[in-house]
Amino acid sequence: MSNSNHFTYLVLGAGSGGIASARRAAKHLNARGKGDRIGVVEVTRTGGTCVNVGCVPKKVMWNTAFIKEMINASPSYGFKFGGEVKFEWPIIKKARDDYIKRLNGIYDNNLAKDGIVKLSGYGKFVGPKEIQVSGGEKYTADHILIATGGKPNVPDVPGKELGITSDGFFELEDLPKSTLVVGAGYIAVELAGVLHTLGSETTMAIRNEQFLRTFDDMLHHTLLTQMENDGVKFVKNSSIISLEKNADGKIVATTNNNVKLPPVECVIWAIGRDPNSLDIGLDKAGIQVDKNNFIKVDEFQNTTAPGVYAVGDVCGKLLLTPVAIAAGRRLSERLFNAKDGLKFEYENVATVIFSHPPIGTVGLTEKEAVEKYGKENIKCYNSTFVNMFYSVQSHKVKTSMKLVCQGENEKVVGIHIIGDSSDEIIQGFAVAVKMGATKSDLDNTCAIHPTAGEELVTMV
Ligand code: FAD
Ligand code: NDP
Repeated sequence: MSNSNHFTYLVLGAGSGGIASARRAAKHLNARGKGDRIGVVEVTRTGGTCVNVGCVPKKVMWNTAFIKEMINASPSYGFKFGGEVKFEWPIIKKARDDYIKRLNGIYDNNLAKDGIVKLSGYGKFVGPKEIQVSGGEKYTADHILIATGGKPNVPDVPGKELGITSDGFFELEDLPKSTLVVGAGYIAVELAGVLHTLGSETTMAIRNEQFLRTFDDMLHHTLLTQMENDGVKFVKNSSIISLEKNADGKIVATTNNNVKLPPVECVIWAIGRDPNSLDIGLDKAGIQVDKNNFIKVDEFQNTTAPGVYAVGDVCGKLLLTPVAIAAGRRLSERLFNAKDGLKFEYENVATVIFSHPPIGTVGLTEKEAVEKYGKENIKCYNSTFVNMFYSVQSHKVKTSMKLVCQGENEKVVGIHIIGDSSDEIIQGFAVAVKMGATKSDLDNTCAIHPTAGEELVTMV
């Protein structure tokens, strides 16, 4: 094996966590000037899930739906257009795909600029600290990071292949006239919202009475009611047990409880994601997984094998891009910049669901807070109102906000908001929660008027 097959740091997967960690490592290792080599193995396009089939194309489609909502609202604000407003999916699909190609190029350039070697192909452990790429060259490294992410889960039911996943959603060449979205998490809610807003007749099949069940009750109740009011159909307390194609090409889904579903053009499975951990030779390197095949790591992202680490979706804890990035960067700071105690803190991570309207949330739900601190130590402040944007139109969308406060000094341990701009409002308030803000800190902050966010500092 030549020297060029040895790396100081070798990263498996050029997605959010892998790229961030490799680049941070390069910053420190390049400055050392000792000829350290950093490599990244990637089997598809650079950027990973977020860039190619996740956050980025999703947000473009959410923006598209947002424009449709503004067009719907515009007559109330006095706008008149010349004729029928037409929406052409292929135009935005092409613009979105072109944008992603540009991003792929930017990511490749950034790796090259940092002197990081990109090894194209499928990487697999063939021994402790040894990776083979696509059955060819073998590479060794002092430190190896696994950042292989995950893939959509598909249920094992007859006809499952008639449905697509979020990956397939981004390949759709046109807006389906009718869609059944199966699932109850982030992806189901976000894609159903986009499709419905853009004009696809959308039905959601959920296994319980509610979706987004791990979020604060106020959030899922408010969103489900709004989506029902806006015309999304729900099939509740039902599981899909098979899919079949009709003579006219439409797909018919059968439920476990014989609920009759309309035939649809498109079925989307959005029922969670599995880690890319099964076919990467973990057994050859002594790396253990948990019962759901997520890689076991400690609080410093160490796997069960010395010198091998894992970050991001493949670890199964908070499957979010900024989490993968932050954990990857901190790991490199620890390994290559002597920041020994540095690790990512998985508490109070803010997150947004790009629903219609969006949700922003950070910290404990009311239920979690009561469980943790006792009912007598929790006080919640709630507010529901219609954003001023809807004052001049008949279509009304509610905003709801909840502060979860703990103890005598009312430390804010959770903030949950749904309504226009929640996606942007929550970031700043997450800083306050992270810093241990109390209700009186919020009260002492002068409001900005007229905004939706001001409600969070004026609740009584
Ligand atoms: P990934 O980004 O998935 O990167 C893994 C990389 O490893 C991939 O490029 C893959 O090709 C490569 N790989 C896998 N196995 C191998 C191998 N054996 N050899 C070589 N390469 C390999 N998060 C947010 O924070 N905000 C959002 O709005 C958001 N929206 C999302 C929307 C959708 C539809 C989806 C699916 C996800 C969304 N996420 C969002 C989640 C986010 O995309 C992930 O949490 C994030 O991409 C995880 O980063 P990662 O580095 O762990 O893995
Ligand atoms: P989630 O884990 O968020 O939700 C999947 C849900 O689907 C489950 O919680 C479950 O809910 C339901 N479900 C599971 N199995 C079945 C089944 N067989 N039939 C019907 N329903 C089922 O997964 P997603 O795929 O939505 O997203 C994966 C992750 O990606 C998210 O957790 C999130 O971390 C990330 N993501 C983040 C986004 C953002 O930041 N905006 C956007 C998109 C994804 P129940 O038990 O109630 O039935």
